[in-house]
Amino acid sequence: MRPLLLRSVHLLGPGVPPGTGAVDVVVRDGVVAAIGADLPAPPGALVAERAGWVLAPAFLDLHCHLREPGQPWKERIATATAAAAAGGFGALCAMANLQPPVDNVERLRDCLSKNRSWARVPVLQFAACSEGLAGRSLAPLGDLASAGAAGFSDDGRNALSLDRLKEALQQADDVGRVVGVHPEDEAMLAAANPWGGSDPTAWLLRPREAEASAVRTSLEALRQAGRGRLHLQHLTTAAAVSLVRDAKREGLAVTAEATPHHLTLHGPLTDPEAPDRELTCNPPLRGDEDRAALWAGLLDGTVDAVASDHAPHEIPTDPLQRRSPGFSGVQALLSALLSDPRSEGHLGRLVEALTSGPRRVLGPAADHLPPPTVREGAPAHLTVFDPVGFWEPEPDTWLSLGSNTPYWRRRLRGVVLATFSRGRAVYFSQQLAPRADLG
Ligand SMILES: [Zn+2]
Repeated sequence: MRPLLLRSVHLLGPGVPPGTGAVDVVVRDGVVAAIGADLPAPPGALVAERAGWVLAPAFLDLHCHLREPGQPWKERIATATAAAAAGGFGALCAMANLQPPVDNVERLRDCLSKNRSWARVPVLQFAACSEGLAGRSLAPLGDLASAGAAGFSDDGRNALSLDRLKEALQQADDVGRVVGVHPEDEAMLAAANPWGGSDPTAWLLRPREAEASAVRTSLEALRQAGRGRLHLQHLTTAAAVSLVRDAKREGLAVTAEATPHHLTLHGPLTDPEAPDRELTCNPPLRGDEDRAALWAGLLDGTVDAVASDHAPHEIPTDPLQRRSPGFSGVQALLSALLSDPRSEGHLGRLVEALTSGPRRVLGPAADHLPPPTVREGAPAHLTVFDPVGFWEPEPDTWLSLGSNTPYWRRRLRGVVLATFSRGRAVYFSQQLAPRADLG
């Protein structure tokens, strides 16, 4: 593709000294070819002259549900990863709760091969911790890691006992992998919702206490394991943030993520395909105090990463039936954060939570990705965005198959202009250049 000259961009990200002013950057032949003042335009270059744009390392999403193989009517590997690229992501982690779940080497190999064929950006495939996500017997974690699993999680379920989780942490540690936990205490969920998931109000009945309880159990498993790395997925409550903060002070190897919707949205939300229907997610959206605690945790580093929990679903055939819980949102993640006034003045921290934060969570499993820095001579693994521009997601520009999104037709702040992944341009906005320029 043509060389790209970005004039007067602000560099952000690990390794960029704070206070670094605006610079010119040339990306050529898949490499950050030059960083400096008043750089000459290479022959044939596409020149972007807007002041105020930001250049950061490409983002890494720790938590996506690709739905394929298994449920291609909900989402495809190609569409989810195209949406991620348009959201500034140069790589993403795919959860294991496909149908059937990725709990053996054969299924993992099938996923890896399909991801390689169809994904726009590299996919780090997670495998299940337990067979069938049922919590009773552990999946063959060592074999799965050797075959290419980037980490382990039963996300969607939390059926592992303290002892099983302890074993999983130890076995995953033997192969340098992290164990992710969806922290909701299943016994407490069942007690709060004896009718099961078919009740239309069931999704509201997921008490906050179930999260704190699961976080406590998971931390105790980590303590007893004596080694291993625990990652707590989609924290939503002040109590959980506080438990993680204390655990980090204690020196436990725990990390945590929060989603943009738990950080920024309150319910009820309308299904964009049916104004009478509500959109819900698991865990549910919480109250103002919880959101304030999540932001505090994100800004002080207790929450290591922001992750999308991209969870696309189809439109139900029965107009009265609500959709399965979860939001399609990876494409709007950055904008959701920047549209919240609490992000003001914290752009650097947000970029960390989308770059070096997730890398730290994954450890050696992400070593094949370029380091999360913007450096001359490094492979172009970059995101260019306008932090103050506006856009409105709509069906025409939404690349995920999942229309279960709270972001359609909302005026969002923060526009991704280009994404490079391992030297390849994987997304160019119309604003920056016609699609034909995408190499
Ligand atoms: Zn989950």
